[in-house]
Amino acid sequence: MTDPIRLSLSRRHLMSAGAGAAIALSAGRAAAQQAEGQPLMGDPELPMRPGERMRWAIVGLGTYAVGQLLPSFGDAHRSRMTAFVSGNRDKAERLGRSYGVDRFYGYDNYDRIASDDEIDCVYIVLPVGLHAEYTIRALEAGKHVLCEKPMASTSAECERMIAAARANGRQLGVAYRVHFEPNNLHARQRIADDLGVIRHVSAEHGFDINPEFPPHKWRLERALAGGGSMYDIGIYGLNTSLMMLKEDPVSVSALYSTPAGDPRFSEVEGGLDWQLRMPSGISVSGTSSYCIAPYVSRQRYSGSKAALEMQPATTYDDNRIRFLGEGQPPQEYAAGNAAAQFAAQLDGFSMAARSGTAHRTPGEMGLRDIRIIEAMYRSADADGAAIPVSV
Ligand code: NAD
Repeated sequence: MTDPIRLSLSRRHLMSAGAGAAIALSAGRAAAQQAEGQPLMGDPELPMRPGERMRWAIVGLGTYAVGQLLPSFGDAHRSRMTAFVSGNRDKAERLGRSYGVDRFYGYDNYDRIASDDEIDCVYIVLPVGLHAEYTIRALEAGKHVLCEKPMASTSAECERMIAAARANGRQLGVAYRVHFEPNNLHARQRIADDLGVIRHVSAEHGFDINPEFPPHKWRLERALAGGGSMYDIGIYGLNTSLMMLKEDPVSVSALYSTPAGDPRFSEVEGGLDWQLRMPSGISVSGTSSYCIAPYVSRQRYSGSKAALEMQPATTYDDNRIRFLGEGQPPQEYAAGNAAAQFAAQLDGFSMAARSGTAHRTPGEMGLRDIRIIEAMYRSADADGAAIPVSV
């Protein structure tokens, strides 16, 4: 029998971006569902009635939460917000009026969420140095936790978070939204189907950090950030490459590329050039930087038959694919609405929490990535020596 997903995917390969947009959107969604067996878009045919949806508390109402996450609940079908945790009660109440949220906690009475039956899931959107503490307290309060990336400051903290999830019988996920992004899910399918044997992967992620801007300021302080550019932005290149390859590295090497004398980088690195050695014999090369302009988010996958590039690769709402086949003109297109990733991630976690099955991006994945980055730092401290990793 003809597989309708494959049929629509191969039709899309022949189309240019504009003409194929509608088919591409549904095919990207279908490919994602096929890839992971989890509904991507909150399964529009089967939305849960609001009273049945998983109830979420958002911890930290900063730039990312307010700009991206809160609005995305409007597109979710299995998730709704019931509570905000913030140090700024006026801000929380103002946002509560906009989003129909009427339960408010501060950091001083956070543990009282334990007796709040209107909260099932907690989303940690705080600076990295606070992830472990607030995640563990929520798990001990009996809630499921989705924690922003990077998972925590150290692998030891990640291990404690995973242990707390197990001890309390709750789900722990790390918010790697790219695993729910239609263009990246489509790219993963094409990489598997059309590139032949993968020979090399490269990733480039960076921006120019502004120490005067409060959300950037804490990213330059080790206690709150855990690490530097690799923790914050380079982690997209690492995690997305591993998502596409479906194998984990055996060793890593890295070199710092922090500009000498730049006062912004007294506590964390400004840049890191890194390389993963994979069991299949290939290498993955990446750069992360806090001192380049303009903002860049780029991935390239080179195979024995063809190559696929994504630029932008991991943004909120504008990811694009460029497929390069031997002797063919490049095909450039978007395979879906990138902004759908936010609601898809929420609903994916709600379903995992409700059913007691592991989230697509579990705590163990967050721990793996922090272990790899710690090995990168050890390598960079030793002028690029190869460091074995066991993840
Ligand atoms: P932000 O500075 O804008 O927000 C941080 C929030 O934490 C603020 O509301 C702040 O008041 C609160 N906070 C509580 N205690 C604090 C303390 N001691 N110091 C500083 N702030 C404190 O930062 P952001 O950019 O929204 O990042 C928040 C989290 O979201 C981080 O983990 C970051 O890595 C993650 N993030 C993820 C993405 C993504 O695409 N997945 C994008 C941006 C940020």
